Amino acid sequence: MKLRFSKINHIFISHLHGDHYFGLVGLLSSFHLLDRRTPLTVYGPTLLKDIIEIQLKASNTQLRFPLHFKATQSGNKQVLFEDDKVRVSSFPLLHSIPTTGFLFEEKPKLRTINLLQIQGYDIPVWALNTIKRGADFVREDGEVIPNSVLTLDPPTPVSYAFCSDTAYHEQLAAYIKGVTVLYHETTFMAADQRLANKSNHSTTVDAAKVAKEVGSGCLITGHYSVRYDDFSAFAVDSKVQFPNTFEGKDGATYEWSSQEGELKVTGGRQGRLEGGKVFSIMWISL
Ligand SMILES: [Zn+2]
Repeated sequence: MKLRFSKINHIFISHLHGDHYFGLVGLLSSFHLLDRRTPLTVYGPTLLKDIIEIQLKASNTQLRFPLHFKATQSGNKQVLFEDDKVRVSSFPLLHSIPTTGFLFEEKPKLRTINLLQIQGYDIPVWALNTIKRGADFVREDGEVIPNSVLTLDPPTPVSYAFCSDTAYHEQLAAYIKGVTVLYHETTFMAADQRLANKSNHSTTVDAAKVAKEVGSGCLITGHYSVRYDDFSAFAVDSKVQFPNTFEGKDGATYEWSSQEGELKVTGGRQGRLEGGKVFSIMWISL
């Protein structure tokens, strides 16, 4: 995907079926050989730590960079990472082995200074930060300039939910209520509901149902079974229930435009994927 390795500092693994993580140790090894020094954190099921350690031990590899591991819990929602800009949580999915989805939430931003308005009030630079946080401005003569005059509402925070392999289950919507962009697997077409139920996967209709319950801004399909030839048919199938559905394409970039309230898609390989079910998304929020 031509993504710079130095941009990758956190890796989230939903569950331990091979199509979701067998490439991980190879990637860690590449980082090591390329002399990476910056820390990396991997989040995933407890057993993943053992799996990584035994492979590094067997190849007598002492990584050149600090590798941190945080175990996910498949029984409840859990905050995994948080800074002043973003919060990442895991939440339970329903699959044949312990599995979690991931929710990436942008935190509310500070209010935006209304440049046209502040010019007339001679506001010192030191006061701008408190005004951005919602404070009124009090002039030396005691006159109060309300915050609503000086600032504009900040952009609405956006969020992204990654729901890998999962059967439909009612609790899911509560974990990701109101999410902006929802990626939800659609391993099977609607006509193959029986196969989806049998393997703890979802159909296009299941995913559309979740998108509707959540009130999501849009839905991206993916993780298609190799039994089908035309992957574009999945999004068409989901659109019957949830019109704002997009075809998940390997290597594509999905960019949510808050201003226009729509998803823009660039790149991505067409048609059948070489690797079958494996599917990755690159998402840029702003
Ligand atoms: Zn799986």
